[in-house]
Amino acid sequence: MRRGQLRRARNAKVERNPEVNLPWTLTPGLLEMPSDFASRLAARNCRDDLHDFCRDFDLDVQGLVDGSTEVIVQLARLAGIDAETIGREAFVRIGRERRYLHKGHEFLISNLSRDRVRVCPACLEEDVSRHDFRVLARPYRRSTWLIDYVRTCPLHDLSLVTVGTGSMVARRHDTSQVLAMALPQLGTLTGQAVKREPSSFETYVRGCLDGTAAPSPWPDALPLHAVMRLSAMVGGSEVRGPQVAIDSLADPERWEAEAVGFDILAGGEVEIFAFLDRLQSSFLDGHVRHGPHPLFGHLYEWLAVEFH
Ligand SMILES: [Zn+2]
Repeated sequence: MRRGQLRRARNAKVERNPEVNLPWTLTPGLLEMPSDFASRLAARNCRDDLHDFCRDFDLDVQGLVDGSTEVIVQLARLAGIDAETIGREAFVRIGRERRYLHKGHEFLISNLSRDRVRVCPACLEEDVSRHDFRVLARPYRRSTWLIDYVRTCPLHDLSLVTVGTGSMVARRHDTSQVLAMALPQLGTLTGQAVKREPSSFETYVRGCLDGTAAPSPWPDALPLHAVMRLSAMVGGSEVRGPQVAIDSLADPERWEAEAVGFDILAGGEVEIFAFLDRLQSSFLDGHVRHGPHPLFGHLYEWLAVEFH
């Protein structure tokens, strides 16, 4: 975009003119978050820095990241799109806490991949081939990819891969610029992704967000963030023993642990008590110390903090 065009667009008062104020706008993608849409919109208008773009149009970047309704309405007016549609994908910060509300469920910041961008490379390849405008503005991140516990794309049966770590962390909210770095390697990344179907755990998490989850009495009785963490802790303990440091496991091991743990929880009382019996047996076989910590390991620590 030429400087003159940008200046004219910038000078157009958003408040006085509810029509589209940019030379080019975009249709939000399915499951596209407001801050990612803003990043893509900036790229579409050749302003390859989200912060500069937001400064041009008096948009609060942090407000977008925090899902502020006011800023989302401002963005929607600027782009000429429906605020409710794009706002539905926001993770809305609860007060000044490090917790977010998304589609009726609460997420802790530790549940979200804020410091790295994860993608399904096959989805991005489709984004690139679907459109014919500026290539940097074509691919986008889906809101589900922000949730750490969602590790597989259900459309392509591929594990998500991480792009944009290291020096790109500083630009982590400017997702289109992070994705731009990955564009030349999409074919390689697709080859590197693990071919697998989503686990029943991942299907449950997604189903909770889009209202398609099958009833599952035990998980349904807990907040979703607790189900996610408990699945990891129970599954990690089941597969690798109670002292496992679940957060240090690599993606395939985490994926397996979470799937196994969720199946135990979803199995209800019978499966949960069988799991506890196995835990106790392994303890009696191999330990001499007493008390709950040696028996339940990190699972006990987490339960003690979560339900104190
Ligand atoms: Zn995909």
